[in-house]
Amino acid sequence: MATAKIRLYVDHPLGQGQTIPLNRDQAHYLFAVMRLGVGDAVLLFNGRDGEWRAQVVEAGKRGGLLRAEERMQDLQMPPDLWLLFAPIKKARTDFIVEKAAEMGARRICPVQTDFTNAERIRQDRLQAHAVEAAEQCGGTFVPEVCALQKLGQVLANWPKDRQLMFCDEARAGRSSALAGGLAKGPWAILIGPEGGFSEVERERLHALPFTHAVSLGPRILRADTAAVAAMTLWQQALGDWQ
Ligand code: SAH
Repeated sequence: MATAKIRLYVDHPLGQGQTIPLNRDQAHYLFAVMRLGVGDAVLLFNGRDGEWRAQVVEAGKRGGLLRAEERMQDLQMPPDLWLLFAPIKKARTDFIVEKAAEMGARRICPVQTDFTNAERIRQDRLQAHAVEAAEQCGGTFVPEVCALQKLGQVLANWPKDRQLMFCDEARAGRSSALAGGLAKGPWAILIGPEGGFSEVERERLHALPFTHAVSLGPRILRADTAAVAAMTLWQQALGDWQ
């Protein structure tokens, strides 16, 4: 039996002896692209039951069957961090979702701000990017990609106990990042679009009791860079990098 190096996300319960039917795409990937055959091993996760080593029981062109044999990792939840970002151009939005999944966001929320150009997003495509990132980075959890919502609406329904790290380009160059002494617990990061935040948005955000406005250094970063930089800072100060 080949050692399991291939990781696959399946939307199916995983447990000892559980059989998992494969759809056409999964069968194509495992048997045509990766050249696995009956008896070979593959690692599976579903975002809930940890990581399982499974064996190929049937390998066909249009489908197949796996059997879960041994739990290799327990489910590891990332910290309770949401990434809120204004969608930008397609490739850069894909990048933000991929990096947020790798960096350990629990939820990824595209938000429409005053200067956001995108009117809609492909939620299913972005979710697929989050799955792929989890497959690749060894994660056992897949962050949910939310539907596009207006920033005003998100703030109006804000959960009381969640802190917001507001990455405000107007603070670029001012005293730096996350101040010390902040409470751990539920947090969110907010990154604006290429055009930045409007003055109205900025005023509203600053007035909210759960907002912590931060600078990401003296240079203005592109939104995709800013998202990765902000998550790095947060993970270091309050997340699971400690
Ligand atoms: N067009 C704007 C910049 C937008 S950058 C301008 O020229 O001012 C896109 C987003 O990245 C910003 O809305 C902010 O959330 C984040 N960002 C980029 N650089 C930053 C910095 N130095 N400090 C804080 N946030 C920053």
